Amino acid sequence: MDQAHAEEILKKVIAIPTVNDNEKEVADYLASLFAPYEDQGVTIEELAYSPGRSNLIVTIGEGETTLGFSGHQDVVDPGDLADWDTDPFVPTIKEGRLIGRGASDMKSGLAAVVCAMLAMLEEKKVPGKIKLIATVGEESGEYGAAQVTDAGLADDLSALVIAEPTDGMRQICYTSKGVVDYHVTSKGIAAHSSRPHEGEDAIAHLLEFANEVQARLARLDKKDPVLGKLTSLITLIKGGEQINSVPSQAELSGNIRTIPDYTNQVIFDVIDGLIAELNAKPGYQLSVDYIYPEEPMPGDAHSPLVQLLQKVGLEVFGHTLTPVGGTGASDGSEFVRAKGDYPIVMVGPGSDSQHQPNEWVSLAAYHQAIAFYQQFANEFFGK
Ligand SMILES: [Zn+2]
Repeated sequence: MDQAHAEEILKKVIAIPTVNDNEKEVADYLASLFAPYEDQGVTIEELAYSPGRSNLIVTIGEGETTLGFSGHQDVVDPGDLADWDTDPFVPTIKEGRLIGRGASDMKSGLAAVVCAMLAMLEEKKVPGKIKLIATVGEESGEYGAAQVTDAGLADDLSALVIAEPTDGMRQICYTSKGVVDYHVTSKGIAAHSSRPHEGEDAIAHLLEFANEVQARLARLDKKDPVLGKLTSLITLIKGGEQINSVPSQAELSGNIRTIPDYTNQVIFDVIDGLIAELNAKPGYQLSVDYIYPEEPMPGDAHSPLVQLLQKVGLEVFGHTLTPVGGTGASDGSEFVRAKGDYPIVMVGPGSDSQHQPNEWVSLAAYHQAIAFYQQFANEFFGK
């Protein structure tokens, strides 16, 4: 794979606008790159999430062990176009940087793993069974990765490398916090405030929940050596109708950042248990919804996978990749639910300009990433 071809592939995927939609166009394009190799045993599968939105799964090579590479095909909204120096969907090269929405997060990582796999096929040097999983909807709830996981398509992996940006491939993110966003509604009975005994105070019931849930979550006080402690915030609250009425409704939203010591089920048990206790009292009517909860991603800074990535990093880049923890969720939070206990790490060429105007990737980092993924796959399979 020459550099011009690798750049053309990256430019093509950036030029397809996939702001929380339209990922099928990227999936179709990537599938077309692998199609010429179908007679070499390459399998290509699209898993539709909804019309216009498809996950893509491509498998090359064979063997008992499967190495996974993954990336999401969606991007975040470019925001105010006046903040951009160029059209976010017209990839532009300036001073060694390729600029465009998704250049960092994470079409460069996705294109780099695709180019690495195509290079193996071109050179007829596929070291083992390698599976590409390109997802939809990572930025708005990781529901593509959830769908792929629920379909069992990530069950057979032995290790998974997600090509999310890690400071131009200077870091390896091997563990990250999970997220539980929740919304609680409290229903009461309205009455004139001069006759409060005729009503049920939805705000008072909600505040009781708010104080108690924070107290109970604070008891989950284990400290992860890298990620720190679980954190919990009540981020939105509103309720009531007018100043002289017993409030008949109130609601709040909360955001919990979890650590691998506590699976999301532990959090659900705390919240659901409290709601059930309160609802057992006369007049209480509370309910909870969870919004795209994401599991924490456990990991080990000294695992054989991290050590191998560091070894290959030193060979390809001449620098050591630093193992780090992440505070945000990614598709990894869904893939951890797959059957099979395999390590998941993130390492990719994007810069720290993700979600910003003039998002960019260093072209040098992009080309090195392709070499890195190819070399890593060889060494992973002992070749
Ligand atoms: Zn991303």
